Amino acid sequence: VIIITEAGISEPTLDALRDHLEGHGVRTHLSRGTDRVVIGLIGDTSVLDPSTVRAWPGVASVVPVRTPYRLASRQFRAAATLVPLGDAAGTRLGGRDLVVAAGPCSVEGPEMLIETARGVQERGATMLRGGAFKPRTSPWAWQGLGAEGLALLAEARIVTGLPIVTEVMDPRQVDLVAEYADVLQIGARNMQNYALLAEVGRIRRPVLLKRGLSGTITELLLAAEHIMARGNDQVILCERGIRTYETATRNTFDVAAIPVLKRETHLPVMVDPSHAAGRADIVAPLCFAAIAAGADGLIVEVHPRPAEAKSDGDQSLTLDQFGAMMAMLAPFAEAAGRSLAGSAAPRPSALVA
Ligand code: PEP
Ligand code: MN
Repeated sequence: VIIITEAGISEPTLDALRDHLEGHGVRTHLSRGTDRVVIGLIGDTSVLDPSTVRAWPGVASVVPVRTPYRLASRQFRAAATLVPLGDAAGTRLGGRDLVVAAGPCSVEGPEMLIETARGVQERGATMLRGGAFKPRTSPWAWQGLGAEGLALLAEARIVTGLPIVTEVMDPRQVDLVAEYADVLQIGARNMQNYALLAEVGRIRRPVLLKRGLSGTITELLLAAEHIMARGNDQVILCERGIRTYETATRNTFDVAAIPVLKRETHLPVMVDPSHAAGRADIVAPLCFAAIAAGADGLIVEVHPRPAEAKSDGDQSLTLDQFGAMMAMLAPFAEAAGRSLAGSAAPRPSALVA
């Protein structure tokens, strides 16, 4: 249930209303508009009689929620959520500007990371991606540089000024990753790791939540709800392909998820065409489709020498391929009513320690 207050409701009236509601054992969550407050009720609302609630001072309307998620729902918050990415340029995801994150699947070492970071920035990327902790299907595969990789990402941020998105896999490492990352990524395999979602819900740092390999759109939104219910409403959703019977691509890019999500939720939506495709040659068309369908941002794997990549080389674009794709994005962005976010200004090299 959502309660919409009368315009200009006073704080004492609002407090009395909340006390009354919480006295019935439900939790309240406030979303303040310019003159009205939307109160989301969390918990068992069956104890409340809507017609009685409607009669309380300060209440304009009582709206039943038709979805299992509330905080993530457009019904609860009509205006798009803008997520600040933490860079000096003040880039925000979810508005008119399209954000492009690019970088290697894994952070492999200092030289390749700086080369990639500089390269993608020169070609228009506004955020740097790179995994330090890598969820690998096989325990015998490369597992990432771990904490050392985080330090390298921090260095790349100093050099370029680009905000960093990197994955956190373990609830015990949330604070460590949050020390380095501007955006914490929850990987597809962890979409329903509720202990991890609770931990990233506790911090005040944006979270990029990837859709699980077999996650429905509703399950993705409920996973976001787990994070938001802990108080962190800076959640970015990410469509990265789902598992189907198709074998021509690594996963099946669910383009329909984009407009569905944009209708259902106020949270920004990113698309990862690299993991959806699993092959570099179709990454660009999937990016164009994502923009046309209303995506707020892209996250693309780029490696200076994909053949040498320690993970996901097959789906990584070279810097030249990334540049060519970026040059072709503008008309799609324009057709979708978006502009490409300007790349962050490189920081003076004097800042490099
Ligand atoms: C990644 O971003 O490198 C990654 C592991 O993605 P996903 O969780 O979508 O498989
Ligand atoms: Mn990858």
